Amino acid sequence: MESRTYATAATPGDTVTVAGWVHEIRDLGGIAFLILRDTTGKIQVKFEKNDTDDELVETGLNVHRESVLSVTGSVEAEERAPTGVEMVPTEVDVLAEADPELPLDPSGKVEAELPTRLDNRTLDLRKSEVQAIFEIRAVMLQAVRDTFRDLDCTEINTPKIVATGTEGGTELFPVTYFGREAFMNQSPQLFKQLMIGSGLERVFEVGPIFRAEEHNTPRHLNEATSIDFESAFIDDAEAMDVCEAIVVAAYEAVAANCEDELAALGLAETFEVPDTGFPRLSYGAAIERINATGALDTPLAWGDDLSTEAERALGDEVGGHYFITDWPSEIKPFYIKDRDGDETLSTGFDLMHPRLELVSGGQREHRHEQLIEGFEQQGLEPETFEYYTKMFRYGMPPHAGWGLGAERLLMTILGLENIREAVIFPRDRQRLSP
Ligand code: ATP
Ligand code: MG
Repeated sequence: MESRTYATAATPGDTVTVAGWVHEIRDLGGIAFLILRDTTGKIQVKFEKNDTDDELVETGLNVHRESVLSVTGSVEAEERAPTGVEMVPTEVDVLAEADPELPLDPSGKVEAELPTRLDNRTLDLRKSEVQAIFEIRAVMLQAVRDTFRDLDCTEINTPKIVATGTEGGTELFPVTYFGREAFMNQSPQLFKQLMIGSGLERVFEVGPIFRAEEHNTPRHLNEATSIDFESAFIDDAEAMDVCEAIVVAAYEAVAANCEDELAALGLAETFEVPDTGFPRLSYGAAIERINATGALDTPLAWGDDLSTEAERALGDEVGGHYFITDWPSEIKPFYIKDRDGDETLSTGFDLMHPRLELVSGGQREHRHEQLIEGFEQQGLEPETFEYYTKMFRYGMPPHAGWGLGAERLLMTILGLENIREAVIFPRDRQRLSP
């Protein structure tokens, strides 16, 4: 609509056309109010029945809630109206009618359970607090991209249908590719590393990853968005610096651009940008601290992965973002490089916010021979990955990088309890549509 004015931009004295959804109709007899809602907010339309054309009154007041109307009229200041202005209509058009029975109440007066909300996401996203999550997601992703560009990274897009998984493993979704078995990719890991030996040197990708996770949890999706970074000529410590810069930039962008959205989510007073200089705790120190809390029935031993309980105990101790570094080599994947001079320690790191893993990364094994050994130690056949290992024979520089779950980042920025809140159409073990 060429001449459409947003609800919140209607200014007293103007004659405008607004368009949106019928949020509410309050019929008080001689006078009736229709509240029209669009992406910016709401505007009150006043029908003084004696002074208004009967047909207009009928069109405006006989529609069901959530029908789509366009209303033309003059804008007047009105202190008692929700936004301080109201419209006196001269024309009302019904653009799309809504059924009287709605599967979900977009005005939020009747609360809906998450499955109902996800089944009817279109209606759910008419609520300002739900819209706010996805406005913030967009701001967050833009900040991530802008920051990577400032750091001289090139955005890449790698294939999502692949012949082999990143790490072999059971988490893969098989698909049929012209009669051959293929998989949905679980990570761009190997592809982004291949770009390190190319002239691009420093790359990032924001794209889907697919994981056939065994369990439904509040922090796992079967299709997630991964923010990946990889750079030549840096080590694990420098990769952590970039990680910190990206995470903090996302918070800063939200603080700077999302005042209304934070208010809609009730976070206006409490939202804080974290300080840089996230603590870097070695795995050894981390398990000691966890054991010292006494929170676990069986204390952790060297080589144990951190259970959810362990992550909780440590998260409660530290309180904010922190890295766990120097993981035992045996529990990190083959492509992570060992510490020089100590094969038992790896350069792998995780970023945690307090109880949740946000990032895994590390310096990569760039030496061909050691890489092949790593494959074998992990029980993988290097031949299957020849497209990848081959390039390590033609000048692959030292490099490091990481992967950050976009939904987990959004979850932690906004304090969402369930990762499904951070995706429009989540994929989990039960949910394949919409
Ligand atoms: P977790 O131990 O929490 O299952 P992971 O160690 O298996 O995660 P990585 O393979 O290290 O995950 O992936 C890097 C990042 O991608 C994770 O830190 C997380 O932010 C995100 N991620 C991984 N798997 C999922 C998933 N199933 N749903 C949402 N985000 C995910
Ligand atoms: Mg991980």
